[in-house]
Amino acid sequence: MNPFPVVLSAPSGGGKTTVTHRLMAQRKDLGYSISCTTRTPRVGEVNGTDYHFLAEPEFLARRERGEFAETAIVHGRWYGTLKSAVQVVLDSGKHVMMDIDVQGAAQFAVAYPGAVLVFVLPPSVEVLVERLMARQTESRAALRTRLQSARAELKEVDRYHYVVVNDQLDAAVERVKAIIDAEEVKRERVRSLDAQVAGLITRLDTELEGFAQD
Ligand code: ADP
Ligand code: 5GP
Repeated sequence: MNPFPVVLSAPSGGGKTTVTHRLMAQRKDLGYSISCTTRTPRVGEVNGTDYHFLAEPEFLARRERGEFAETAIVHGRWYGTLKSAVQVVLDSGKHVMMDIDVQGAAQFAVAYPGAVLVFVLPPSVEVLVERLMARQTESRAALRTRLQSARAELKEVDRYHYVVVNDQLDAAVERVKAIIDAEEVKRERVRSLDAQVAGLITRLDTELEGFAQD
C-alpha cells in the first residue's frame, strides 16, 4: 500500500486538532507531520510535539533554504510544513496526517498531487463560537481575527475532495476513517494492479478453455 498525505483544514475551532488526535489514537497506520510556527505556545503545548515553535528569523531562513513543502501567514503568524516531516512519515509506511490552513493546503496539493484534502465544517456558527470560547486559548481580539479568517476559509471549500461536518466527534472521526479506507483502495493507488489483473486474465483464459467445447 502506498501511504499518502491526508490534509485536514477547518476554520479555527472547527475541530481539526481534536479529530486528528482521536484518529491517531485509534489507528496505527497514521503518522503526524509536526508543523513549524512563529506563534507563541499555548498553555499545555509542547515544542516538538504540537509544533516546532520557531523565532521568525529562523523560520524565514529555513523557508529561504527551501525546507518547507508549503508556508502561509495565518492569523498574522507564519506556519509551515517541513518537507522532511512529511517524508519521514511516508518512509515509515504510514499515511501523514496534516492540520494546515487553506492557503497551505492549496500549495501542498500542487507539491503532493496524491494528497487527500478534507475540509472539516462546524455544524453551525453558534457551535463554532461556543467551542472556540470554551477552549479558552484566545483573547477576544484573537477570537475576532480567527472568526474573520473563518469567513475567508469557508469560501475555499471547493478545493477539497471531501467535507466532514464535525457535529458528533465520534461520527466525524468515523467519516475521516472511511475516507482514508476508501482512498487506500482507489484504483490509481493500488500497487501492481496491472500485474494482478493480467494474472487473473491469464488464469481466466485457461479456465475458459475448459468451457470452449460445451
Ligand atoms: P481546531 O484545531 O480546528 O482549531 P479544536 O480541535 O481545537 O479546533 O477544537 C476546538 C474546541 O472544540 C476544542 O475545545 C475541542 O475540544 C472542541 N471540539 C472539537 N470537536 C468537537 C465536537 N465534535 N464536539 C464538541 N466539542 C468539540
Ligand atoms: P493554531 O494556531 O490554532 O494551532 O492554528 C491556526 C491555523 O494554522 C489553523 O488553520 C491550522 O490549520 C493552521 N496551520 C497549522 N499548521 C500549519 C502549517 O504547517 N501550514 C499551514 N499553512 N497552516 C498551518
